[in-house]
Amino acid sequence: MNKQMYLDLNVSNKVYEMGETILNELKPRFEEIDKIAEYNQNKVLLAMQKNRVDVSCFQTTTGYGYDDIGRDKLEKVYSDVFHTESALVRPQITCGTHALTVALSANLLPGDELLSPVGAPYDTLEEVIGIRESTCSLKEYGVTYSQVDLLQDGTFDYDGIKKAINAKTKMVTIQRSKGYSTRPTFSVKQIGELIAFVKSIKPELIVMVDNCYGEFVETIEPSDVGADLTVGSLIKNPGGGLAPIGGYICGKDELVKRCAYRLSAPGLGQEVGATLGVMQKFYQGFFMAPTVTAGALKGAIFAANYYQKLGFKAIPNATESRHDIIQAVELNSEKAMCAFCKGIQSAAPVDSYVTPIPGYMPGYEHNVIMAAGAFVQGSSIELSADGPIRPPYAVYFQGGLTFYHAKLGILRSVQELLNEHLIDI
Ligand SMILES: *Cc1c(COP(=O)(O)O)cnc(C)c1O
Repeated sequence: MNKQMYLDLNVSNKVYEMGETILNELKPRFEEIDKIAEYNQNKVLLAMQKNRVDVSCFQTTTGYGYDDIGRDKLEKVYSDVFHTESALVRPQITCGTHALTVALSANLLPGDELLSPVGAPYDTLEEVIGIRESTCSLKEYGVTYSQVDLLQDGTFDYDGIKKAINAKTKMVTIQRSKGYSTRPTFSVKQIGELIAFVKSIKPELIVMVDNCYGEFVETIEPSDVGADLTVGSLIKNPGGGLAPIGGYICGKDELVKRCAYRLSAPGLGQEVGATLGVMQKFYQGFFMAPTVTAGALKGAIFAANYYQKLGFKAIPNATESRHDIIQAVELNSEKAMCAFCKGIQSAAPVDSYVTPIPGYMPGYEHNVIMAAGAFVQGSSIELSADGPIRPPYAVYFQGGLTFYHAKLGILRSVQELLNEHLIDI
């Protein structure tokens, strides 16, 4: 029954059968993921019940948005799930980069230094910080930056980090996910160890964690292990695919307050910000997020196992434990990246008939190829694949609001590589 359906969707029997064999072996791992999803689902439910979420939360505000009950309560729900004093969860935060920019620029003043102890940050942050010259960068405002790369084996360079922390160091930024690099993603536990280390050297340091793609993958979040600010995008995991825009910043009250003043205006802060009718989607998306994340995670593991069997390098590899939903596959050529993305695109519910090609993207240094047929534009909790066109020609695959969609995307990508004679099955 499914075999014929896959044929209709342009997946050959060969590609499908190999997928079924792989999935059979993955059953115990998928059960583990379901248990984490169950825990996180209950964590979200508990927070919603405790805060007495009701239909009044879904009403809309316009203009200044004073006294928006739904907005204020949602921020309490986020604080409870992340176990923080405070949270800023807003549709006025455009994306992850914006949320991180707000958190950084609100808490760094001229003369302060920002330290990344985990190597280069996500591409778009290079211009935010001023690693690449950019108008309105932190550098322009007199904030300096220092970076300590990871050691060869992907672990923290504790000696280097100790040396890098100086009198000016005010904030430390830790990116949980690998982003567009092929380093490992850190577990929450590892992040906790790093936070404890930097604070043992200078206790007053503010530690921010870029939590993009990591939410609900484990049962704890960086805020549970000492992060002062935990930041992410609502068109990734915590939006559950339903949030049409938005970002969040969870953390210490005094720091989050500063973020609110930076986002709106000094004196206004968290009191303003109309929600324009998106609250019901923010709540429902957050409610869906644990199971959506679990589906995406299964998709990532399926992709790693399939592509590794085909002889490609998968990061994380087929058996490694997971701390985010991103799967990188080194495809070794631009042609293979294009075939892979063509396959993902063709599996989409929206825009399935278009063929992605590499092109310029604001914020990125190299040409980027992106496959996404999403209900929310640019949403990467929905099935998507992208990557900068540069060696090792790694494609970063993530998302899938349902596992079955992720599965189809992977099967279609394999089929495209096969059609182009880039692999043998
Ligand atoms: C996606 C992402 C960002 C930026 O988020 P946008 O919503 O694309 O602006 C930052 N850091 C990491 C690790 C990401 O994955």
